[in-house]
Amino acid sequence: MQTGKELAGKVALVTGGSAGIGRATALAFAAQGVKVVVADIDVSGGEETVRMIQGEGSDGLFVETDVSQSQDVQAMVERTIEAYGRLDFAFNNAGIEGERAPTADTNEENWDRVIDINLKGVWLCMKYEIPHMLETGGGAIVNTSSAAGRVGFAQIPAYTASKHGVIGLTKAAALEYATENLRVNAVCPGVIDTAMVERYIGDDEESREQLISSQPIGRLGRPEEVADVVVCLCAEGTSFVTGVAMPADGGYIAQ
Ligand code: NAD
Repeated sequence: MQTGKELAGKVALVTGGSAGIGRATALAFAAQGVKVVVADIDVSGGEETVRMIQGEGSDGLFVETDVSQSQDVQAMVERTIEAYGRLDFAFNNAGIEGERAPTADTNEENWDRVIDINLKGVWLCMKYEIPHMLETGGGAIVNTSSAAGRVGFAQIPAYTASKHGVIGLTKAAALEYATENLRVNAVCPGVIDTAMVERYIGDDEESREQLISSQPIGRLGRPEEVADVVVCLCAEGTSFVTGVAMPADGGYIAQ
């Protein structure tokens, strides 16, 4: 697939860019010569990502942002435009797993927090990104859903609902802007070896082995393997692709 240097000089915004999949994607964009705005609540991690972007020979900046807060998201997009004058790609990726409990035992505070960050956060990002993308002739958005956006996962009902919601939201936006050269897709990672999964399984080696054995591909994914899919979904090679929920899951939802 063509992902080449046609991306050089473009501008990308990556939320949740201080760690994991977001950081890997920021670096994958940077390797293509894309300027990257990293947004996250984690300041030191975000600043480190920016140093890594500069190490790739590209340009980047960090904007402290809580994606569940409208004023933060608005300021994040304004700062991007102020610094680089345009926005071509957005990877709306910040998310949390929330607490583990079955539906009837999920507390309301956890429900609200997970939905606010994972679902409302993606909507807020698109709300403020899209007008600027349209102003300069379009672009590409990738929202982070999950395998848990395609099939049910027990014990994380708010997370599962939020990630199913991201796919619905992605499809609605894809239809709304399809004729305006603005493509909107979702990526659905399977189990990717990041801090989120470490928190989820703890340091129990047996749980890790169990998780690995439930993966058709026989291993966990690497953040870079999701990052490459995101960059592809922004590149010209996928110019006819919009409204999809693309798995990057080692075959998990094919089971
Ligand atoms: P991670 O915990 O390593 O990184 C998440 C990042 O999001 C962190 O830097 C964190 O500070 C940031 N963040 C959290 N709340 C935020 C907020 N309110 N505003 C801004 N930033 C915030 O996790 P990850 O595995 O890299 O996850 C990234 C995305 O991928 C999430 O949306 C997650 O749900 C999704 N995902 C992960 C997996 C997996 O197995 N790791 C699988 C499917 C989907």
